[in-house]
Amino acid sequence: MTAKNIQPIETRYKGYRFRSRLEARWAVFMDHLGLAWDYESQGYLVDGKPYLPDFLVRPDDKEGAFWLEIKGSFPTEEERLKVRGLAEGTGIRAFLYSGKLESPAPDLSHLDMTRYVGPHERDYAWTDDHGWDKSADRSVDWEVGLTPTAFLFGPRRARDDKSDFLWWAECTACGYVKISRAGQRAWCPKFDDLSLEELERRFGPLYPCFGHRTPRILAAYEAARSARFEHGESGA
Ligand SMILES: [Zn+2]
Repeated sequence: MTAKNIQPIETRYKGYRFRSRLEARWAVFMDHLGLAWDYESQGYLVDGKPYLPDFLVRPDDKEGAFWLEIKGSFPTEEERLKVRGLAEGTGIRAFLYSGKLESPAPDLSHLDMTRYVGPHERDYAWTDDHGWDKSADRSVDWEVGLTPTAFLFGPRRARDDKSDFLWWAECTACGYVKISRAGQRAWCPKFDDLSLEELERRFGPLYPCFGHRTPRILAAYEAARSARFEHGESGA
């Protein structure tokens, strides 16, 4: 929020007072998919500054809980540092999500393995808020024009903080929902103990196999966008 004379209207949903409609809509989205969440359950001092993270999502699997911080627009560096500090300080991975309440990519099921992976010599031009640059002469076609949706920060600083194509996706074998890169259904933590061969024998080829536009995921976006809420109190 840049202007001081404007602020989001609080929104009531399920007994919670959300700071914005957008956050409440994401709560509806997760409910539709059966994901358990807490809202603003715990505040922290991150590098000396108070911070109250939006959601702690608690899926029923061994990948465990994750923080979900919702932004209406591409996050600033200050916001990114805060969420990175949260992940490192609590030891829980954290998504900083600024994607819209809609499927972030078209149906990609026509892609074969070759076109999914693209050329091996990678010299694409990445811009953090726009993804792969259209001017790059050697990009993976299907990624050009897609906007990154989120940053993922791990508990340890193992990778650069770079925006990525992190999409809500459903395992098309068991219905398990996670945020995964490019909406890939594999690996599904429910089948973690099976070999790749066994998985492919049971469910067919795992790559590329996208679960970001399943009927259930699309219905969850629709439910989130169309939800009506009581008026909250103004945040004065
Ligand atoms: Zn699964």
